[in-house]
Amino acid sequence: HLDRIAEVDGLVHAFLHVDAEGALATARAVDADLAEGREPASALAGVPLALKDVLTTKDMPTTCGSRTLENWVPPYDATVTRRLRRAGVVILGKTNMDEFAMGSSTENSAFGPTRNPWDPERIPGGSGGGSSASLAAFEAPLAIGTDTGGSIRQPGAVTGTVGVKPTYGGVSRYGLVAFSSSLDQAGPCARTVLDAALLHEVIAGHDPLDSTSIDAPVPPVVAAAREGASGDLSGVRVGYVREFAGEHYQRGVLGSFERALGQLREQGAEVVEVSCPNFAYALPAYYLIAPSECSSNLARFDAMRYGLRVADDGEHSAEEVMSASREAGFGPEVKRRIMLGTYALSSGYYDAYYGSAQKVRTLISRDFAAAFERVDVLVSPTTPTTAFRIGERVDDPLAMYYADLCTIPANLAGNAAMSVPSGLSDDDGLPVGLQIMAPALADERLYRVGAAYE
Ligand code: GLN
Repeated sequence: HLDRIAEVDGLVHAFLHVDAEGALATARAVDADLAEGREPASALAGVPLALKDVLTTKDMPTTCGSRTLENWVPPYDATVTRRLRRAGVVILGKTNMDEFAMGSSTENSAFGPTRNPWDPERIPGGSGGGSSASLAAFEAPLAIGTDTGGSIRQPGAVTGTVGVKPTYGGVSRYGLVAFSSSLDQAGPCARTVLDAALLHEVIAGHDPLDSTSIDAPVPPVVAAAREGASGDLSGVRVGYVREFAGEHYQRGVLGSFERALGQLREQGAEVVEVSCPNFAYALPAYYLIAPSECSSNLARFDAMRYGLRVADDGEHSAEEVMSASREAGFGPEVKRRIMLGTYALSSGYYDAYYGSAQKVRTLISRDFAAAFERVDVLVSPTTPTTAFRIGERVDDPLAMYYADLCTIPANLAGNAAMSVPSGLSDDDGLPVGLQIMAPALADERLYRVGAAYE
């Protein structure tokens, strides 16, 4: 995999940092264990992985795709990182991303975009485009992403790979640099559903270091993926959400989705239409809640404790240093979100914006709850379009935000969702994803249906 990275990453640019030495040391330790007859630490011991650069690593930089954290090496490992190491997983390096995970194309990275291995003129999705592109380019068989509004599933869909957003609280956020704390969730990315399940079980589970971590057994996702591999879905009730269609969707994407429903029926699933009327308000609610939390979380980058510091020449006040450093360290999208969020949280507007968005969030949870009384899982296209061209949406934030039309409801409600490859679009021959959504703590349903479908 290191050779493959050396060969193709100049073009793909999935990685911001490659740790060849560390990776080889871990791999040799696993080899030594096997040679001496010791049990490997896990089923994934010795398997290489690409880690999104938003999870802290004490021996590698963690930049979050931002100038603010360029060259910053954290003093501690994220819980996800620690669990990967404990399982003997070989961490190849850190992957490119939109700055602080804000974006849908990886073009907001301060270090240049990642390219989609299917067509280097196109985006690999975002914010975790580096992680998904590394899988599609065969630079790594496993990767970790984080998903606040779709950043695991949307890149998975447009690169033809698998991506899972576990139930909120299923995977610890300790050491995951916060964007929107009530939505952020780390999860597995892979080329098959079973690989994702194996990785899911390595990283999931209660963590006292994260107060929102759920103290419950990890859903049996590996067993579910193995069960699903038979392809038989008899007895499984699948709902497709009526509201996920319309003007924003490409014909080729909807065509692929129709074929997916047909296949699920052939496999024995009972497929019915359900309505989730409040999903129409998910995108606007998200773009109040996520920037609000972002404006608060990113206040920590004050140039005083760590990160970029400019104008520190003895001539400027602490406030001027802080202001100049934030001006220089943050890119345009991050600044846009901080301004939006600060405005939405300001005393005169709090109830009108943040308060209303929170109410919409509750309505969306109720839509899900009502739907899950009738069906076991919900399905939809993962994204309204296939991978768009690099540069096509950079000047149009709203067009960029529409990439997450189908993925955001699951984040707002905190339930589990997966994107699984669903063939190629008739429009342009590019990969399309099928999104599967399950209730909170029922992540195993995604794996059962996903493994049967793929
Ligand atoms: N594209 C969405 C945003 O820009 C989601 C990002 C994410 O899931 N991290 O906020």
